Order: sequence, then structure tokens, then C-alpha cells
Amino acid sequence: MAIKADEISQIIRSQIQDYRTGLVVSEVGTVISAGDGIARIHGLDKVMALELVEFPNDVYGLAFNLEEDNVGAVLFGEFHQVSEGDLVKRTGRIMQVPAGEAMLGRVVDALGRPEDGKGPIATDANMPVERLAPGVVDRQPVAEPLQTGLKAIDSMIPIGRGQRELIIGDRQTGKTAVAIDAIINQRDSGVISIYVAIGQKRSTVAQVVKTLEDAGVMDRCVVISASSSDPATMQYLSPYSGCAIGEYFRDRGQHALIIYDDLSKHAASYREISLLMRRPPGREAFPGDVFYLHSRLLERAAKLSDQRGGGSLTALPVIETQAGDISAYIPTNVISITDGQIYLETDLFYSGVRPAISVGVSVSRVGGSAQVKAMKQIAGTLRLDLAQYRELAAFAQFGSDLDPTSQRQLARGVRLTELLKQPQYAPLAVEKQILIIFAGTQGHLDDLEVTDLGDFEAGLYRFMDTNKASVFQELLEKKVLDDDLSGKMNAAISEFKERFLAERAA
Ligand code: ATP
Ligand code: MG
Repeated sequence: MAIKADEISQIIRSQIQDYRTGLVVSEVGTVISAGDGIARIHGLDKVMALELVEFPNDVYGLAFNLEEDNVGAVLFGEFHQVSEGDLVKRTGRIMQVPAGEAMLGRVVDALGRPEDGKGPIATDANMPVERLAPGVVDRQPVAEPLQTGLKAIDSMIPIGRGQRELIIGDRQTGKTAVAIDAIINQRDSGVISIYVAIGQKRSTVAQVVKTLEDAGVMDRCVVISASSSDPATMQYLSPYSGCAIGEYFRDRGQHALIIYDDLSKHAASYREISLLMRRPPGREAFPGDVFYLHSRLLERAAKLSDQRGGGSLTALPVIETQAGDISAYIPTNVISITDGQIYLETDLFYSGVRPAISVGVSVSRVGGSAQVKAMKQIAGTLRLDLAQYRELAAFAQFGSDLDPTSQRQLARGVRLTELLKQPQYAPLAVEKQILIIFAGTQGHLDDLEVTDLGDFEAGLYRFMDTNKASVFQELLEKKVLDDDLSGKMNAAISEFKERFLAERAA
């Protein structure tokens, strides 16, 4: 950063003026240069890292780089108005965003300003965007499930409230779809959802908002949008703002779910800012502290202890991979920060397995302890059956003759894979999920045509709702499959299957 002599003299002159007017240099500074959403500031000797600094015309900045002779700040708001010589003031505060119930149903930018044209947001509550994550004593292990309504996830990759579960996959593999379905499924659960769109097209964000509105859940959601046309500084800030809005609910004993879609673009925006600030580039040109970028964000997701109100913030970060490479820099970082990952595969997606969840490499490390007991009971068999199927399917491709046992396992696997498919925007209640997976693992579907399974499933739910509602009731009350209940479920499924087959034959 070359400073010309006349600039120096101007700075000195203004400083002498400042002394006469009684301004303290450590609290006030002067803009040396501004552009690309960042500013170099002379003065501000005592400013703290990530402190909010104030420019003229309501522009704010974050003290980002504290160097020996200057301070680098990232700018928010109408930053093109900032120019050389402008006065900058310390605030002694961390940046804050508005929070509270009034945010529900709104679309806001990274600073919490409305983007939806529905007028100002009336709230007195503010939350700091950067905040220390709750410590170990303030937390407790996950205990309640966060149902996504997706059979494949709730059965085999269960998520608990307060957990961090990564959704990872190539572009166009249904990552956003999984997240949106999880939000839609919170319709009656009391969980508040926050969707942070980072670096996406405005049209895509508008589409998401419309989907949430159509599903009737938007009034329980907050959408934070920092689109690809917004400056990198806004994209950088948006997940922290979203997290702060979620923490408001978490700290009041409520439950919130936050989606960061996606953190790959977030990392890219941070790289852009860091390179402009001339921080040394490291691996893949990311700055050395890019791990801390996401770890400090995701650590704020938590299930609080009962003393702290027992609230929770569940985080579902999204990462986009290139050609399925989960061992790249940012993916490995985020995998190591989260409690598991849902891995979506392009091949599966195009072969019609949707959601395209790769069961082999997807895992949830803590959610099992929060899972509904009955689901846990049947999920073990499901996993095993599918693992055997995957192994056999590789052989079967060679067209070799298979013994009857293997053929049975293959038939079972094909049907289980089929029943885990699920259309978009159609999350299923947990009792229905349990019933259909139970039907599959008990072998009720083995002799049905694979193409009939969709109709069978839909028909079964209708049949149960009208004729056997008491079984669902009992399942929801007991939450465990004992012999008595299993017997009732078996009988109900058999009864429906007879009708179904009779109808097919007719
Ligand atoms: P991007 O990388 O662009 O963000 P993405 O991984 O978030 O993509 P989505 O936008 O969620 O993927 O989905 C891609 C397409 O697949 C969309 O057109 C969506 O409607 C479709 N899709 C996703 N899930 C399903 C599903 N379960 N059944 C049918 N279609 C689906
Ligand atoms: Mg997406």
C-alpha cells in the first residue's frame, strides 16, 4: 500500500486539526483508500478485531485486518460513498442484527434489512452477529429428534435437535431440496426455520420463498438472502447474521433450524475479501484461517442444558463438491466440523433414486440417541439389508447365476431402495415412515412388482388412516415396537395387501 507524500501531509494536517478539536486518534481514523468494498484506515489505534466502525452516510464496516500502520475494514451498506479522507469512528461494539418474532415470515439481507417490500421490521431485539459458542457445561447431548420427513434420512441418518449435519454433493443433486423438505416438515413441530442463501441467484431465492409460502410454512421462517449480485462482504456476513437470529430463539428455550446454502460460496466470498486485504493465500488460495471461518459458525449450533432453558439450534450446512470430490479443502474442513454428512450422488440422482442419498458414505454420529425408538428398531435391519444388496448388486451385474438366498436379498434390496424414494415437498409423518419401512424389512413387499410399490404405499397410508388409525395412535404413544404392536402392524399390512392384490388382479 503506497501512500503518496501529499496524502501523508494531508493526514498529518487533519490530525493536527483533530487534536485541536479534542478527538482522540485511537478512537478516530481517516480513510486512506476505499474500493471493492474494503477501506484502509489510518488511526483507530485501539480498534479490536471484528469491531464495528462507523463511516459517514450511515456506512458501517468491520475492522478486519489490524496492521501496524493501518486498519483494513470491510464495508457494508452504500459503501461507494466512502472516499479518501473520510472520518471513521470506533463504536466499541460488535455488529448487530435485528432479531425476534417480528423477523418471522420476512426476507432480509445480511444486515437484517427487509428485502421483501413488506415494510420495516418492528423489533427492539438485537443480536450480535459474532458471538462465542456455548461452552461444554452449557450444553447437553441431543435428545429430541428433528424429523426431516424424508424416509431415507429419518431412518438411517437421523438428526437430533442441536446437531450439525452437512448436506454435501455436486451441483444439481437435490441438496436444497432436502433442506427445504426439512423446513416444510416443521409445519407443526414448533421449530422455527432460518434459510440463509449465500451467493445464489436472486431468482433461485425467490423460488425458495415461493415454495415455503405455498407450503404454508413461511410465517415460521426467516430467509436471509445475500445473492451472487451482492458484494462479497454481504455474502461473508450472512451466515453469522442468520445464526444470530437463530440464537435469539435458542436462548429463549425454543427450537430453531438453520440452513446455510451454501458454505462453499461463503468460503469463496471470504477468499475474495482476504485477497483484497492482501492476506497471504494458502491452499487453493484460501487464507490460512478458513477453517475457523466455519468452525466458529457451526459451533454456535447447540442443544442447551436445562439450566440454560433447553433450547436448540440445529444447523444443516450445505457444501457443493466438484465431480464428487469430498476430499477437497473446504469439504474436508466442514466434514470434520459437523456431526455427520448426507452425501448426495449425481449417478443416483440420474438413475432415479431421489433423494439421491448415498447410504454407504452418509452418516449421523449423534442423532441415533434422539431417534424415535421404534424407528431405531427397524432401521438396523434396513441398513443391513441395503448393505448386503449393494454388495450383491455388484456381482449380479456380471449376470452370473445366483443362489436363491442371494436372489431373495437382491429382490429385497431393490424394493427397499424403491420405497426410500420420495417426491419433493411431500415430507412424511414419522408413524407412516415407520409403517412402510416395517413393511419392507418384514418382507411384505418382496412379492410385489417394483412398479406397484408407489401405489401400494399411497394406498396403505389411506387404508390405515381410514381403518386403522388406532394403530398409528398406539405407535405414537408407545414409540416402541413390542410384540403386540408389531403383530397389529403385520396384520394391518397383510389385510391391505390382500385387497391391493385383489384389485390388481381384477
Ligand atoms: P444447486 O447445486 O444448483 O444448488 P441442488 O443440489 O441444490 O442444486 P436442487 O435445486 O435441490 O439441487 O434440485 C435439483 C433439481 O432436482 C430440481 O429441479 C429439483 O426439483 C429436482 N429434485 C430434487 N429432489 C427431488 C426429488 N426428491 N424428486 C424429484 N425431483 C427432485
Ligand atoms: Mg441448491
